[in-house]
Amino acid sequence: MARSRLIVANWKLNPTTLAEAKRLALAAKAASAKAKKVQVVLCPPAVYLATLLTAPGKLLFGAQDTFTEFEGAFTGEISPLQLRDLGVKYVIVGHSERRKRGDTLEVIAAKTRAVLKTNLAPIICIGEDKRDGDGDYLEGLVRELEFILDKVPRQAAKRIVLAYEPRWAIGALATGADTPEQFLHHAIFLRKTLVNLFGKEIGMSLPILYGGSVNVKNADSFLTVGQADGLLIGRESLQIKNLVEIIKLAAKAV
Ligand code: PEP
Repeated sequence: MARSRLIVANWKLNPTTLAEAKRLALAAKAASAKAKKVQVVLCPPAVYLATLLTAPGKLLFGAQDTFTEFEGAFTGEISPLQLRDLGVKYVIVGHSERRKRGDTLEVIAAKTRAVLKTNLAPIICIGEDKRDGDGDYLEGLVRELEFILDKVPRQAAKRIVLAYEPRWAIGALATGADTPEQFLHHAIFLRKTLVNLFGKEIGMSLPILYGGSVNVKNADSFLTVGQADGLLIGRESLQIKNLVEIIKLAAKAV
């Protein structure tokens, strides 16, 4: 049976006006309406979520981050309960840009648990800083995943989305993207860990996305050759024509 694909757009700290956010979201909405078996998830800055969620069409929305606690004296934080109340469905956790701003593995694990407790779906970002010829970084990835997903009950685990994002491939300082062939190997390896943690049925069913310098030129091969269940797209998702093109490619790749 044809699998559906998840296209997640992480807008980071962009755009700087609500008017522009609405313009981008409208174009994504139109493309998403036409793309069968493709779920598009927009992750705009949190301040735009309430407005964009008033007319989502087939789009789903995600937050770029959340907090470990649900309510209380935590100035500046955003609760998973507040996100759920708005109609948000996904939350990115463990993104490399949040790690750089202080999110430790403990914090990432706590955020994952908070997201799952709220019945939202975490998009958990995992990836190495650099590769070594001996493949030691692969063990590092497994250790991280085991730590983050420790004690997550099977029922809740069904909502997990994993994004394999090698950190050297993310953002403006990226030194390139992974290759689709290597992504395929990494995804098989990560899936084995998910199967070990949650059993075959759940482990095999969880989506594994590729992220890191995805663009309109390489997206198709990650979905076809790399067999990615979807893509987590940063910079290119703000080039709205290219995002629309990638959504169309994903519909063809199903
Ligand atoms: C990201 O923000 O997760 C990302 C992969 O960014 P970019 O596509 O810009 O490398």
